[in-house]
Amino acid sequence: MKLNRDKIIEWLRCNNQDQLKLLYQQAYDVKLHEVGPKVYLRGLIELSNICIKNCLYCGIRSSNSIPRYELTEGEVLSAARFAHEEGYGSIVLQSGERQDHAFIENVDRLLKGIKIATSNQLGITLSLGEQSFSTYKKWFNSGAHRYLLRIETTNQELYQRIHPDGHDFDQRKSCLKDLKKIGYQVGTGVMIGLPWQTVDDLVNDLLYYDDQDIDMIGMGPYLPHRQSPLQGAGPVDLNRNFEWTLKMIALSRIFLRDVNIAATTALQTIHFQGREWGIKAGANVIMPNVTPMRYRQDYQLYDDKPCLNDDASLSADCLASSMHVLSVPIGYKEWGDAPHYHNRMKDKPFGPICTDESFHADK
Ligand code: SAM
Ligand code: SF4
Repeated sequence: MKLNRDKIIEWLRCNNQDQLKLLYQQAYDVKLHEVGPKVYLRGLIELSNICIKNCLYCGIRSSNSIPRYELTEGEVLSAARFAHEEGYGSIVLQSGERQDHAFIENVDRLLKGIKIATSNQLGITLSLGEQSFSTYKKWFNSGAHRYLLRIETTNQELYQRIHPDGHDFDQRKSCLKDLKKIGYQVGTGVMIGLPWQTVDDLVNDLLYYDDQDIDMIGMGPYLPHRQSPLQGAGPVDLNRNFEWTLKMIALSRIFLRDVNIAATTALQTIHFQGREWGIKAGANVIMPNVTPMRYRQDYQLYDDKPCLNDDASLSADCLASSMHVLSVPIGYKEWGDAPHYHNRMKDKPFGPICTDESFHADK
């Protein structure tokens, strides 16, 4: 199936469940062909809910009155060791945004510490918001090799409506360019079903991923948070957002082919098997939460976030059996890089800066 703007719009509007099944099946086939049958695991460590930003949709925005926390170095290292022992190939360090010197140095120490603690074996993705070129570069040199920074929406007007003054759309775009220049595997994505978002916006989001040669896609349904201003924008159709997200995963897979696509926790919030649905629609990455349990209730980006009380070992067993039921193998102990990254780096005069193999050899 060849996709273009009109065809993508048609699919996003399609309500025929038999046809949609065929769409998901085709996306799954493309996934098998382009990135293989495995799902790759990234243990998610929610470092801190302290944030200088005030995004109108987010439960940990700076104006919300919630208990703030920051994991200690020991807690981060033990979560990373846990992920490593469970055979997760990588972790994601995520947190509210901070740009101060102490934060930058702390992340840098953590990166070096995790590399030492896991004998350079654990891949590290960062999701720490907007930073300067030199900070991104410093963290890359200390061992981070992937970075997730969602553009949130590519519609500039909508971006401004869901962020307060001072949040700069062009700055966000320029951060994504910096990350690519440095040599990170770059991930972006959007929230799906935002108030005022249209089907045209979603098509533009997908075309933006292609235009920017993005390696990894992390998209999830927008979910309201009771303390956050965007909640006042009216009722949210969760079923529609769930289906739009599955369609966007499938269409991204068919259109972009060799990228990594995550089945996000937000999907699981709407349906307890949401991540499994995401995998069947063409996603190939899952991010099980390995944050120490006592902090999880304070990292609620939206209401009813799942797994707040799930023991990480039991969740790992549950995930393994649910993938087994779907006949999806798990890529234990593998980084699971997006082939897209290696394909695009082949065109660079000096080749990839950091591959699974060269990374182990160099560091
Ligand atoms: N602070 C960093 C940033 O914003 O890039 C990283 C952490 S932030 C919590 C990660 C993502 O959570 C955001 O990019 C946003 O898309 C998502 N998020 C926040 N609030 C959400 C909500 N109410 N519904 C769905 N996703 C949400
Ligand atoms: Fe902070 Fe990220 Fe939430 Fe925005 S989305 S308020 S930057 S944690």
